[in-house]
Formats: sequence, structure tokens, C-alpha cells
Amino acid sequence: MFDFFAQELTYLKGVGPAKAAAMASEGLRTYGDLLDYFPFRYIDKNNFVHISEIKDDNSYVALKGKIINVREIGGRLFDNRRGAGGGKRLVATLKDETGEIELVWFSGIKYISTIVRPNKWYSVFGKPSLYLTDFNITHPEIEEIDAAAIAESKNSAAAQEPLQPVYSLSEKMKKSGITIRSMAAITKNLLEQARQSIPEILPANILHEYGLIMREQAYRQIHHPSSWEEMLAARNRLKFEELFLLQMLVLLAKKQKKQQKGHVFTRVGDFFNKFYYEHIPFELTSAQKRVIKEIRADTKTGLQMNRLLQGDVGSGKTMVALMAMLLACDNGYQSCLMAPTEILARQHFASITKLLGNVSSDDGTHGNVKGLPLKVALLTGSITASERRTLLPALLDGQVDILIGTHALIEDNVRFNNLGLVVIDEQHRFGVEQRSRLWEKNDIPPHVLVMTATPIPRTLGMTLYGDLELSIIDELPPNRKEIKTIHATDAQRLRVFGFMREQIAAGRQIYVVYPLIQESEKLDLKDLMDGYESISRAFPLPDYQIGVVHGKMKNENKNYEMQRFKKGETQILVATTVIEVGVDVPNATVMVIENSERFGLSALHQLRGRVGRCDKQSYCILMTKDNLSGDAQKRISTMTSTTDGFKIAEVDLQLRGPGNIQGTQQSGMLKFKIANLSQDEKIMYSARAAAMAVIKDDPLLNNRENFLLRKELNEKKHGTFWGNIS
Ligand code: ADP
Ligand code: MG
Repeated sequence: MFDFFAQELTYLKGVGPAKAAAMASEGLRTYGDLLDYFPFRYIDKNNFVHISEIKDDNSYVALKGKIINVREIGGRLFDNRRGAGGGKRLVATLKDETGEIELVWFSGIKYISTIVRPNKWYSVFGKPSLYLTDFNITHPEIEEIDAAAIAESKNSAAAQEPLQPVYSLSEKMKKSGITIRSMAAITKNLLEQARQSIPEILPANILHEYGLIMREQAYRQIHHPSSWEEMLAARNRLKFEELFLLQMLVLLAKKQKKQQKGHVFTRVGDFFNKFYYEHIPFELTSAQKRVIKEIRADTKTGLQMNRLLQGDVGSGKTMVALMAMLLACDNGYQSCLMAPTEILARQHFASITKLLGNVSSDDGTHGNVKGLPLKVALLTGSITASERRTLLPALLDGQVDILIGTHALIEDNVRFNNLGLVVIDEQHRFGVEQRSRLWEKNDIPPHVLVMTATPIPRTLGMTLYGDLELSIIDELPPNRKEIKTIHATDAQRLRVFGFMREQIAAGRQIYVVYPLIQESEKLDLKDLMDGYESISRAFPLPDYQIGVVHGKMKNENKNYEMQRFKKGETQILVATTVIEVGVDVPNATVMVIENSERFGLSALHQLRGRVGRCDKQSYCILMTKDNLSGDAQKRISTMTSTTDGFKIAEVDLQLRGPGNIQGTQQSGMLKFKIANLSQDEKIMYSARAAAMAVIKDDPLLNNRENFLLRKELNEKKHGTFWGNIS
């Protein structure tokens, strides 16, 4: 079958060998590549402004006027205008009936001087900047226009000009002679050739239901719209298509995964009930109850559970995990809980043994729980070889019911008797590969509950974890006071210290956190130790006890310091982000974050979540230097204005783009051609609904109307992004 998309660009009118080579170096080899090379902007020639109307508001303008002179200014020495350091520049003056403006080029002078000539009319597009008292435009887009056409358009106001597409052009492409104008001509040729050869891949009823234009029309209108409406309709259709195909793939994969057989937890027994009625020191929130029900329903079906539990920091996910593990125990299965750090694993171990038995076994590695006859064990990198020698056989024998640990859990020699449930805390720290290694430990894979405190915007969650069922704890335990967040600079440090003293006098504890960023570990560690010293001076012994924890310390020292803080023996804990996730010391009510401009939003939110865990008022103090970049300012003001993790995640997504959200960096997925997860939430929902409907009607896509859709999906599946979705 003739495949228009696969044609090589060298066959296209207007693309000679040189241009083709330059385009190929940008990945543009076929008609399909070029069709998907969407303009990033359009010049609206119906919307010219007069030179006198230019405002200092940093926006692009389209101008129309006559070039009245062109001159090359090539000072060496004393020319430091715009910091060009003596380089040459080309300056042209554009004039319209209201004024004049200078156009400036610092490079490509030779070429520009051939197209910009005095006494000709041009349309000009660019961003004016103020130089001394006048505006100028550097490196504008410029195109000669027909003086007669101008006169005509002045007379007939009705004549609408199409929008002119602006494509991004690499240096190589420019050198090969491709201009914005010639690129537009090339895509025009391409679309002229395309008559009837861009097949529709979406089923007709979806086009109808969602009011989408046809595919070929969409390509035509995204490249050469005759109005903004046309452009928007095209963009909407193409975004929908992209998100729809993605959702189809995600949902089809989920269906396949669903076929996995799973252990059947038929009963709710004594462990669960006794714990629920006698051990829990508080009432579960209704969100916690709902999620436990969801887990219970999943584990009854005979299919493997794959569930993502999202809940903001402090929402009580650990309790849900524990109840799920008790369910496994009731049905005769072992379970394990995997945490991303040693500190967290120990903390889980301590709090779980305590909850199960009302005994404190903070330091022990084997908790023999009194209350419930269950054996809970801890396995981390720092468990000694001899401890392992007793633990591993016990695990294989089925004598250990609940195993808590770190990555050490997925080592090959760790074997279970009958692993029924795996809980993974703080998912984003683990790769997909680790998740699947746990699955392979048994013939029938265990149920998997993944917990994350990093709220992911729903649109991203649907894509990233599209194969997981989603549970959300959207409610904090009652009696929590909203954390007060304050921004302070170094000048206010003494006041901050004063406030810390007040809090300590009231019996509270304080974290002081320093960023630790890997590239400059030494420097960061020095920051931390300097900070520790200055705090030690401001909070001297014997009145104050201060602890310090950082990633480079030996595990046993880390644990020792954490325990001292947990027991209230130290009032201030100076730490790096090792305490970012999960650490739970309810009496700590103040979180001071040093150099907080260097943290990302999700880290700040996580850190703040370490306080506000009791009924006392908690505080988060964000220390920064004086001058902040725009993004840093936005992060800080977001933190001071909301504690809602989902809102913070949305801002994070806007600031960083989806590729940089935690957990997605490595995967290289989510490279969209046109869709934008932070802006296209609505389209995403429609696309998902449409995909669900198609799969429900025709699960194998055997219907004739779905033929091209299936073909497209098959091609995509072998393409780049699909391979990356777990
Ligand atoms: P996270 O979701 O961040 O992992 P945790 O599980 O660490 O939260 O719980 C935070 C704190 O809230 C813990 O001290 C826990 O004991 C407490 N907690 C959990 N559920 C409730 C509840 N329903 N009522 C009161 N406190 C709760
Ligand atoms: Mg937690």
C-alpha cells in the first residue's frame, strides 16, 4: 500500500539535496516527519501594529513598513553595544506612517543584506527591546511584501491573509538556505501533494462525538491555517489523536496485565480484625477506609492487584499498607514492605512492630510482637551476615510473616515461602525494573501496592502509571493544623533563631535541612557542617542538644542520631535531604530549609511534610538568599500560598515540564509532538474516555472501522515511547 508518510523528503518539490541533508540532520527524513514538524508560532498578517504602538511589554509584534536605510556597522574597539564586543552588525531602519524602528542583526549579515534593501516594503516580526530611549528589534523575521498589495489591503478591510507558519530552524538548516518563508513553501508543497493520501485513523463516531476535524484537514490547517479558528481546530484534533493513541496503548497493556493470575485473599480474619478493633490508636479516616476496601476488593478477584496509592504527605499511607499486609497474613501469605532508604525502613519496622504489639522495639532488628502472634523482620544493607544467616532460612521457611526493608529485599538470595503482597513505599525512588523483579519471585506474582507521597497531576498519573489502578487518600487525619510557611532571608536569621528558641522552650523539636546535590557533594557537605557549627554556637550545650545526619554517614551512626531525635534527646536535627521522605517524628513542629531556592517544589513539599504531624501548630521556614530567579520565586511563593500537594504538583509540572517530573527523567517517555500534559487535561480526559469506549466495543480492534487504528497502534508500539511504559 502506498504510504505517504514514508516518502523521502528528497522527492519533495523545493527540497534539493543540500536542504534534504540539513533537514535529515534534524531528524526530518520523510513526509511524515515533516508533517509532524509543527510550526511553533504563526505570524498574523491581519494583525499588524504601528511602530508608535509598540509597548514595553516584552511581547512579539508584527510590523509593516518601508526600509529607509541599511548600514553595516563594524566597529572593533569602542563598540560594545549589547555586549557584542566589537563584532559587526547590520542595522536597518524600518519606517511606517507613525514612526521608525531599528532592526539589528549580529550574524548572518551577508545573507540578510541581500534580502533587506532600501525602499522596499517588508513585514517584520519580532520582539522589540528597549535600547536607551528607543526600541529596536534584533534578529527579526522579515519578509518582503508587495507594495501594491498593501495599498489594496488598506482599501479592502475584508481581505484576510492566511496565518504564516513559523518553524524552528537549526543553524544547519539556515545555512542550507532554508528560511522561514521557504520552509512554509515546502510544507505547502507537501500538503498539495497530500490530496487524499493522509488516511483517517480515528473511527468516525469518535470524530463525530468529540467534534474533531479529519486528519488530513488537520495537517493542512496546522501548517497553513487561514484563521486562528482553523489553527485551533487542527491543534485540538492532533492533540486528541496523540493522547488517544497513548491511552489506547496504556489501556490495552493494562488489560493484558490484568490477565495475570493472582493469589486469592478470601477472608478477613483475626489479625486484621483484632488489629482494627484493638490496636489502632485512632479512628481511620474515611479515605483510609475506602482505600482498604479497594484493596480488599482487588485481592479477592483471583487476578493480580497492581494498585497505586497516592496520598499527600502525612495522610496515613503506612496504616493502609499495614492493614493490607494483615489481610495477607489472614490468608496465610507473607508480605513485604520496601522503603527507599535505611532510615525509612527502620522507622517502618519500629512503628509497625509497635502498632502490632504495643511494644517498643526501636533498635531491634527482630521484633517478636506480643500483641499479635506475627513475626516481623527487618532486612537492610546494614544487617550483618550472621543476622542474615538466620533471617533468610526463616523467610524461606515461612516463619517470617512480614518483612520490611530496603533494596536489599530484591537481592536474588532473598526468597520467600509464599509471598502474597508487596508494598512499595515512595514509588518514585524505585525504577520500574525493580518493581518487576519482585514480581518474579513467585510463580503466581504477589499483589503489588505502590505508595507515593509525591502527588502526580492526574493527567501524568494516567499516563505514567496507566497500568495501575489508582487509589487516592484525599484527606488528612483530623485535628491537624495547617502548617504555616514563611519565607525568610539571611538578614532575618536572628529572628529565625529567636523563634526556634521559643519553640524549643515550648517542648518542640526542629529540623534544619541543607540541600545536598550530587555534583558538588563536597561543597554541600561543607555547607551542612558550617551550618551545624553556626547553629551549635547559637544553641549551645548544655541547654541544647543538636544532632546531625547526612548521607555520607555510616548507617549505624545515622540510626543512632535518628533515634536520639525520635526519643526527644536532641532538640534540633541538622540534616540533608535524607530525611526528605517518610520520616515521622510527630513532636517536630519546625522545618527550617536552608538555601531553599535550590530545592525543587516536590522536595520542598516532602520536607515540609515532616512537620504538621500532631495537633500542635507547625511551621516551615524557607531560607533563601536575597535575589531569586523567576522560577525560584515562583516555587517559594507557591509553597507559602498552599499546602495542597496536587496544586503544588501542577505548578511543578508547569515550571519543569513533564519530562522532569520525578520518576519520568530516565524513562524518556512523554515526549509529545503536540500535546502538553499540563495544559491539555480536558483533552486527556476525553481521549481516555474515547479509548475506553473503543476497547469496550471492540477489544481486539477487529472491526473494519478500527483497522487503520490498529495498524497505527502496532507501529507505535514498536516505536520509541511505548517500550518505556511498564
Ligand atoms: P504518610 O502518608 O506520609 O506515609 P504516615 O503513614 O507516616 O503518613 O502517617 C502520618 C502520621 O499520621 C503518623 O504519625 C500516623 O501514625 C498518623 N496517622 C495515620 N492515620 C491516622 C488517623 N486516621 N488519625 C490520626 N493519625 C493518623
Ligand atoms: Mg510514608
